[in-house]
Amino acid sequence: MTVRKNLESIRQNIEKAARQSGRQPETVKLVAVSKTQPEEKIHEALDAGQRLFGENRVQEAQARWAGIKPLYPDLKLHLIGPLQTNKVKDAVELFDMIETLDREKLAVELSKEMKKQDRTIPCLIQVNTGGEEQKAGIAPESLPAFLNFCRNDCALDIRGLMCIPPVDDSPALHFAFLKKLADENGLRELSMGMSADYEKAIPLGATYIRIGTALFGQRQ
Ligand SMILES: *Cc1c(COP(=O)(O)O)cnc(C)c1O
Repeated sequence: MTVRKNLESIRQNIEKAARQSGRQPETVKLVAVSKTQPEEKIHEALDAGQRLFGENRVQEAQARWAGIKPLYPDLKLHLIGPLQTNKVKDAVELFDMIETLDREKLAVELSKEMKKQDRTIPCLIQVNTGGEEQKAGIAPESLPAFLNFCRNDCALDIRGLMCIPPVDDSPALHFAFLKKLADENGLRELSMGMSADYEKAIPLGATYIRIGTALFGQRQ
């Protein structure tokens, strides 16, 4: 299968899942997760019209995209992996959305750096919906206070929530939970669903789905 074919069938699946749940397909945006994929596959996706990509490491993303980004003015890059504060400067330079805001120190550093660069980047708050010790994300019960801190103390543009469900759990439970948290907190964007489960995430309100292997094949 080529990337173009995969993209077509993913788009069809998105459309079907959206229509079946009474949603407009355009409200579901595909984040093509290009981490560790060979460069030619990225170009195939670009040639097929894909313009939104996700990367989980700042330096790897820089190496790959710094040269390509200026060639595509409508290209958008999302950071979908953990962000260390010493990489905030590079992240603010490169990315168009940070999906993994998960602690106060990071909020403070992002805020400072965005002011310095005079560049506002919308953010999603990552929620650790499964309460997993090793996983990033804030605890669900801390969300209201953290959201308030990000907005009022740091003046960050918070658009919504992101989660990565535990591997051995039913993802739908976590998607429904994230949707509930977003509704309770007046947030509109929901980044949830990956290759294996995006069709479940769409009826539950996903506005960004993050797809790697189903689009590009196995990572190296
Ligand atoms: C790698 C990754 C994805 C894509 O996963 P696939 O199963 O390959 O679709 C999505 N989200 C995050 C945060 C990732 O790190």
